[in-house]
Amino acid sequence: MPKRKYLAAAVIAACSLVFSGCSATGSPAPERSLPISLQTSTDASAADPSAAPEESTAPDETQVLAQANALAGSYDYVGALKVLEGASGEKVETAREDIKADQAKTVVWEDNSKISHLFFHSLVVDPKRAFDGDDRQQGYLDYMVTMDEFNKIIAELYARDFVLVNPADIAGLDRNGKMVYQKIHLPKGKTPIVLSEDDVSYYEYMDGDGFPSKLLLDENGKVTNQYIDAKGKTMLGSYDMVPLIDDFVEKHPDFSYRGAKGIIALTGYNGVLGYRTSKSQYPDNKNMAKDIATATEVADAMKNTGWVFASHAWGHIDMGKSPVARVKNDMKLWDDEVRPIIGDTDQFIYPFGADIARVEKYSGTKYEMLKKDGFDFFYGVDGTTTAWMQKGDGYLRQARINLDGLQFAKEKRGDRPVLKTFFDVKKVIDPARPK
Ligand SMILES: [Zn+2]
Repeated sequence: MPKRKYLAAAVIAACSLVFSGCSATGSPAPERSLPISLQTSTDASAADPSAAPEESTAPDETQVLAQANALAGSYDYVGALKVLEGASGEKVETAREDIKADQAKTVVWEDNSKISHLFFHSLVVDPKRAFDGDDRQQGYLDYMVTMDEFNKIIAELYARDFVLVNPADIAGLDRNGKMVYQKIHLPKGKTPIVLSEDDVSYYEYMDGDGFPSKLLLDENGKVTNQYIDAKGKTMLGSYDMVPLIDDFVEKHPDFSYRGAKGIIALTGYNGVLGYRTSKSQYPDNKNMAKDIATATEVADAMKNTGWVFASHAWGHIDMGKSPVARVKNDMKLWDDEVRPIIGDTDQFIYPFGADIARVEKYSGTKYEMLKKDGFDFFYGVDGTTTAWMQKGDGYLRQARINLDGLQFAKEKRGDRPVLKTFFDVKKVIDPARPK
């Protein structure tokens, strides 16, 4: 077991956004779903009286093949073969053989406890505004990465044969409530990895500092960002982790294991996803009902495209140090204000990485409260080891590596370097960071 003793200290360093918090609701394993463009839909033609009469309800060969290839392209060989069931023809036979051949080349990942987990905060889109010398600059330098740094990191992870997996791919509760590892089938040479992003609320304090302002759906129902540039112009596009990873996986389906994307950790006190949905904090928000409805639509679209939500505590509280009564109050606020939007989740990402226990197995009141509230997966922070995991009877605990200015600086000092496993910091670091 790697350097457990560093956990507590590293944990505190990691998510300590001086400014605020993040609460997140993780959602249960998302239904693996095909990109909308690949789903067979017969509804449209059925409803359209002008549709050609020869239109058949049976999906055509091209469609079936596209579906099967999309599934196989992200390692879901079983799903791909299922799609081809009942279909015939030369092309279908060839596809079936190819898929079976690829399937035969996979191996079960050797040790789920050695899966790494990297996390980010909202990305700096405009370094000039984030690093402008005001009193928030240091926080951004320490705890954030720029969009440019993020894109380079992701490209390098892909080049090094990492493949995104979600928590449900790693482990799950069996029918007796016991946490058990799941089998991950990947081609030899591929390495599973988890990504997460904390505090995706687009907090008030970040306003005007060169960050995106919200997540929303574009006219095609695709999740995108709103970003207001330095001149006040509103733009829609991929400016933060969710749409950027969506774009990347669309281009490189083999970067995702069966559609997995990552975990989004949400607080509640400034609302979620850029919508001021906290009834307790924004009693005067006249758009409350609409904001909640929109945030829910965005969350649904994210869950349908491989994203998982996690609680990050409503008020970004220190779960380790806070008295039980405060934890209880915070959990209630999260349940009232965040859970209805993102749905139930079994994922909990500790604010500040502040865990409720050190390396010993979980027990006691706080653990029981979290378990009772539906949480089975817990994440602290340890930027000193490439992977750390603890499987308890009824839970899985995984340490995450903070990707931010602090970790880059630690790596450059040669202090317990871990990032070289994933990318070369020198090649990634944004020249826009002030020296
Ligand atoms: Zn946080």
